[in-house]
Amino acid sequence: MKRIIPFILFAISNLPFSAACAQDYAREPRFRALVYWEPRAEEAHVQFDKQAMEFLHKLTYGEGWIMDCTTSLAGYTLERLKQYSVVIALNAQPHAPEERKAFEEYMEQGGGWLGFHAAAYNDRNTHWPWFNKFLGCGTFYCNNWPPQAALVCCDTQQNPVTRSLPAEFVAPPSEFYQWQPSPRENPDVEVLLSISPKMFPFGIKDIVHGGDFPIVWTNKNYRMVYLNMGHGDEGFIDATQQLLFTNALRWVVSRDPKSKLLTPNS
Ligand code: ZN
Repeated sequence: MKRIIPFILFAISNLPFSAACAQDYAREPRFRALVYWEPRAEEAHVQFDKQAMEFLHKLTYGEGWIMDCTTSLAGYTLERLKQYSVVIALNAQPHAPEERKAFEEYMEQGGGWLGFHAAAYNDRNTHWPWFNKFLGCGTFYCNNWPPQAALVCCDTQQNPVTRSLPAEFVAPPSEFYQWQPSPRENPDVEVLLSISPKMFPFGIKDIVHGGDFPIVWTNKNYRMVYLNMGHGDEGFIDATQQLLFTNALRWVVSRDPKSKLLTPNS
């Protein structure tokens, strides 16, 4: 028996799986993401942005992915953007013509975008028709005020972003935007989450009285998800909302052919 044990140990140490494990540990980061935020934005937006970066940073632990942060898109050409599987827009959007052009080309060529709150804000002064085509919605119409928790409903639980969420949950306090026309009117849009009609009249100073109120959606022509959350310092107090954010990030990134993130079963 004593002679057999060293032989067994020798045999185990040469099993093919030991090589496979070594490869596993040597994995490279699965993707790169660019976080864009504006430190001189409205204070409540900056509060959310800073907490979002802390939340996202924790998702990189173990160098699972690389997160670069910038407060300016100046110099981010198409070629430079292409190294990223996703641009995470925290209450920020391209402004200068060359920034807009590079972002347009990046998205038209398969780029990824996860936009929060004011990242999609646009009105008659925005003068960027492509942006509305990309978002799949009209312009900002109205909002609730002050920021308030809201009962929200999943419009579908077939999409990987919402599949693991409850059919309804209470989202932490935020300012929510209503759009006109609603993105639901666009056949290219899949609405994922809406404010429940049970909330109407929604707000105290500024009141949304009714109507269609989508807050999370994807334009199926692009690798993108828009999330209306993003105002104030309570965006990360709720595990369900954190799950929503993580699901949305995973879904956008996993559909990038160059990312090494497994695609969810859909
Ligand atoms: Zn806001």
